Amino acid sequence: MSDAADIVFKVWGARGSIFSGGADKTEFGGDTTCFSLASGAGMTIIDAGSGLRAMGEALSRSAVGTAPEIDLLLTHLHFDHICGLPFFEPTFCDNTILRIWSAAFERDEDFRETLARVMSPPIFPGFRHWDSVRLCTALPGIAIPLAMGGMAVPFPLNHPDGAFGWRIDCGGKSVTIASDHESGNAGIDARIVEAARETDLLVCDATYTDEEIACRGGWGHSTWRQGVDMGEAAGARHMLMTHHDPRRADGEIERMENDARTRNGAVTFARTGWTRIL
Ligand SMILES: [Zn+2]
Ligand SMILES: [Zn+2]
Repeated sequence: MSDAADIVFKVWGARGSIFSGGADKTEFGGDTTCFSLASGAGMTIIDAGSGLRAMGEALSRSAVGTAPEIDLLLTHLHFDHICGLPFFEPTFCDNTILRIWSAAFERDEDFRETLARVMSPPIFPGFRHWDSVRLCTALPGIAIPLAMGGMAVPFPLNHPDGAFGWRIDCGGKSVTIASDHESGNAGIDARIVEAARETDLLVCDATYTDEEIACRGGWGHSTWRQGVDMGEAAGARHMLMTHHDPRRADGEIERMENDARTRNGAVTFARTGWTRIL
């Protein structure tokens, strides 16, 4: 078992809205939202976008003969955040314990019913291993214990149909996820800053450019500049920009990253495979 104080954070998908591949999108990747945090023998995953498939493959390879216990925290149920779920290899392994958490429902049954509705014929040919997955509801502002140790607290984001960010603390280190979020609601923005206070890594929504955001009010996303505003106000040690627009090619994201770094050197634009030890 590694040092319990270490969190190994990894990006498995940083694209927003829909998978977007191609030769001009190899550096940042085309898979949709998925991040993992590993500490000791435990594992916490944020969101089940298409990046979850490769993550499950890697986990199955490394966990042969063990019984991994996984907490998967969902920000919300928009399709780009759950489409990887039926392709997550560890759910086909009987000794995996998988808990999926959402703060969007009051009752576990409502959560199960809603998720099952998406993963049912004729939309999807049934999710056969559904029964082995534990679906759990969390309350905004209330901590849940994690199998990897430490805890996670959900907090509201400003997004159509609702979404929840997560502050994860483990062994004195922390990661705060605040995508998908549209900046501009003073009350919600202030609560995010509070939740992300002094966090080691703040994951921000950077879907749009300054030009694009002007005609995207109500779409539920932000710019890197708004993410940096939030991170600086919270005293975040590093900021990771994510949910890249599906049209955005590598070169354009690189230019956005360079611009952001001229303002604050502690900014990275998320690339599939990017890893950081906290
Ligand atoms: Zn999204
Ligand atoms: Zn969304």
